[in-house]
Amino acid sequence: MSIQIFGLPVSRGVAIGRAVLIASGRVDVPHHFVDPARVDEEIARLTEARDTVAVEFDALKRDLPSDVPAELAALLDVHQMLLQDEALIGAAGDWIRERHYNAEWALSAQLEVLARQFDEMEDAYLRERKADLEQVVERLLRVLGRGVGLPAMQPHARDFGGDEPLVLVASDISPADMLTFKRSVFTGFVTDVGGKTSHTAIVARSMDIPAVVGARQASGLIRQDDCIIIDGDAGLVIVDPSPIVLEEYRFRQRQSELERSRLARLRHTPAVTLDGERIELLANIEMPEDAPVALEAGSAGVGLFRSEFLFMGRGIDLPDEEEQYGAYRRAVEGMNGLPVTIRTVDIGADKPLEGMTQSELRHESVLNPALGLRAIRWSLSEPSMFRRQLRALFRAAAHGPVKILIPMLGSAHEIRQTLEQVALVQRQLSESGKPIGKVQLGAMIEVPAAALTLPIFLKHFDFLSIGTNDLIQYTLAIDRADEAVAHLYDPWHPAVLNLVYQTIQQANAAGRGVSVCGEMAGDPAFTELLLAMGLRSFSMHPTQVAAVKQRVLRADTRRLAGAVDIVLASDEPEKAWAEAQVAGGAPALSPARLASVA
Ligand code: PEP
Ligand code: MG
Repeated sequence: MSIQIFGLPVSRGVAIGRAVLIASGRVDVPHHFVDPARVDEEIARLTEARDTVAVEFDALKRDLPSDVPAELAALLDVHQMLLQDEALIGAAGDWIRERHYNAEWALSAQLEVLARQFDEMEDAYLRERKADLEQVVERLLRVLGRGVGLPAMQPHARDFGGDEPLVLVASDISPADMLTFKRSVFTGFVTDVGGKTSHTAIVARSMDIPAVVGARQASGLIRQDDCIIIDGDAGLVIVDPSPIVLEEYRFRQRQSELERSRLARLRHTPAVTLDGERIELLANIEMPEDAPVALEAGSAGVGLFRSEFLFMGRGIDLPDEEEQYGAYRRAVEGMNGLPVTIRTVDIGADKPLEGMTQSELRHESVLNPALGLRAIRWSLSEPSMFRRQLRALFRAAAHGPVKILIPMLGSAHEIRQTLEQVALVQRQLSESGKPIGKVQLGAMIEVPAAALTLPIFLKHFDFLSIGTNDLIQYTLAIDRADEAVAHLYDPWHPAVLNLVYQTIQQANAAGRGVSVCGEMAGDPAFTELLLAMGLRSFSMHPTQVAAVKQRVLRADTRRLAGAVDIVLASDEPEKAWAEAQVAGGAPALSPARLASVA
């Protein structure tokens, strides 16, 4: 039977494929693909784990004290039986052989299949055996966790012996895990939790594949291998679609591919408005390897390199100065002389590190991580770590234009501390004689306190970058990663628009560069409004550059400017903006212009 599940649309387009389920509650299990050449080794890991658990059960049974109830021995027999059942280990082996899952993933996938069969049993006694099965699998996972896993690989469809697209379904996916799936076989994502600007959603968008988050029950309702459609525009997931629905979505898929290739033609068209204003369209990246994608999209540089992704998902093995220098240098060289803005680590909130330092442990324990030891606050609490990153950045600047961006500053005190560390690093580096480059220093404006005390920031920084994702979160007190309040997360809120407008205006008046690097910059629905506010620099996922450029090419900033006051004074800015657009009429395009925009 076909079912529909609604969530939040976070990455556009249509994906159709077979579900690969990472079950709820088992997200701590490592999920990766093994190299096809090492499938037998991975199956051997699984069978060795089974043998080890079998020995453990034997020992437990042998050593049972004589006064324990007889049921306990019987229970151990049940566990032994479940352990030896081919429906568990044999079938998990099939997941490894056919899908190249690592052993832990294969086991949890098979547990999911069997657990559903137990749930559907009529007999209450048998139904309760599900808990026993879970205990057996837990033991196996513990044994597997003691050993060393085989190295992970990035899979390609051909490794699965077929071209069938796969769609990942999970209760939650951490941003770090999401990144490991980058350039993998998955053609779509669905998660039960998450908001539109959670970092998991942001990474999904940067991958340019359809995704729906906050789909509450999805991982409970969808089964391994179900055929599903992800409608990333509507935030809809369709499980087991009828042939008619499937055909309709295949048609839409083809349409959006056509639209993409049409937009791709704008790649080399300069981003200039109808009235001749040159607009800078920059790219947001997560890894140095994204630089070619940013270039390919026709961006004018990198406006936000989220350096924290170099630090995440690697336990206590954090990158040292040399590794960071190498990574930043690769990004800089990859951009062929175009400017690269690298943000110092913004860990915390939904981008935690895996318990490493005392302060990190403190961070884990706070109740409101988004308000805790995050971003620059964390860097200032770990000054040697912060200086290591700054050194790597100054050294990378010897290879091309680098701008350093500091996240989440909120007070003059933090600004002073930051500038002291920067000055110290510059002194150290010039004494060491290592080649360094000149850098511009910028601040993110993403906390209302910063937006409301802008003159302090303008005094100390060369440029500003408005982080609308957090600015909305902190202005409206809405957790950006919580789907329960996602309907209240509103970029059109007058408070947000006023802060963005004031920041752009004051920076422009002071002659400082100002950009927007939050998701608003890449959303074509906001392009004209931001232009009208005076913004001339936008930073977004490379995949969005062409769509935003299309809006820029059709915009006339002289005609747009007049509507800003009306919108800012309105208690329904979205409506007021739409009405002002209709009243002003769409700007006319000359035939030559039409040809370049079409
Ligand atoms: C922002 O907050 O808008 C931003 C760009 O930073 P991040 O999304 O990484 O918090
Ligand atoms: Mg932010």
